[in-house]
Amino acid sequence: MEHDAGWYPVPFLDERVEPLCCAYCGKSEQTTLDHVPPRVFLDSPLPSMNPIGVRACKPCNLSFSAAEEYVAVLLDVICHGAADVSQWRHKTRRAVSGNTRLLSRAASAAANMPDRCDLAHEDHGVGLVMRKLAVGHWAMNMGDRSYTDPSYVSLHDGAGLSFQKIDAYVTSTLGERCLFPEVGSKAFISAVTTGRTSVDRWRTVQPGRYRYRIEESGIAVLLGDRFFGMARWQY
Ligand SMILES: [Zn+2]
Repeated sequence: MEHDAGWYPVPFLDERVEPLCCAYCGKSEQTTLDHVPPRVFLDSPLPSMNPIGVRACKPCNLSFSAAEEYVAVLLDVICHGAADVSQWRHKTRRAVSGNTRLLSRAASAAANMPDRCDLAHEDHGVGLVMRKLAVGHWAMNMGDRSYTDPSYVSLHDGAGLSFQKIDAYVTSTLGERCLFPEVGSKAFISAVTTGRTSVDRWRTVQPGRYRYRIEESGIAVLLGDRFFGMARWQY
């Protein structure tokens, strides 16, 4: 039976490797569940094994929620324009209904980034979300916390690019070396149950909405089969 490490019902099968403090800032005060990926990036119904995520303190969790909603809206503005939200996803339509400030903020951000080479570089909210996804995926999948921010994050508009092209670009940036995950982590379980010695392939959380890939040097995400982002650590 094929297992995907992304879909175990609990973040860690071996609780000894589950970090008990906030995966993002390291504080051990009362923690909440921070969803990785954010639910606003997925369509309803959510995948059956959701929710999934990492422990996060309340301040970290709240700061990410606002940024994630903003980024989801921004991507629909870029895809469909701000004038007619009827083309948008249900969740982003709901987010801007009655929140004209969020809509105008995303619309003006999109208008001010005409090149759209790297949205994370041009927009603070996108950069914050990419950092969260990087640290969150690493903590969740690898059974390891990296409190340090990635040294580099990006999010590119891959409109018109095939999945193969995006995949090749990610491979050339992040490399394709084998991972050595913590014993008991999701990545470890995946390697054991599938017989794979490396877990460097894309995992689909929800087709057409969210995929991710973990490499030794960093992580990559693919949003809406169009926007692809990467985060790298420097060791
Ligand atoms: Zn925190």
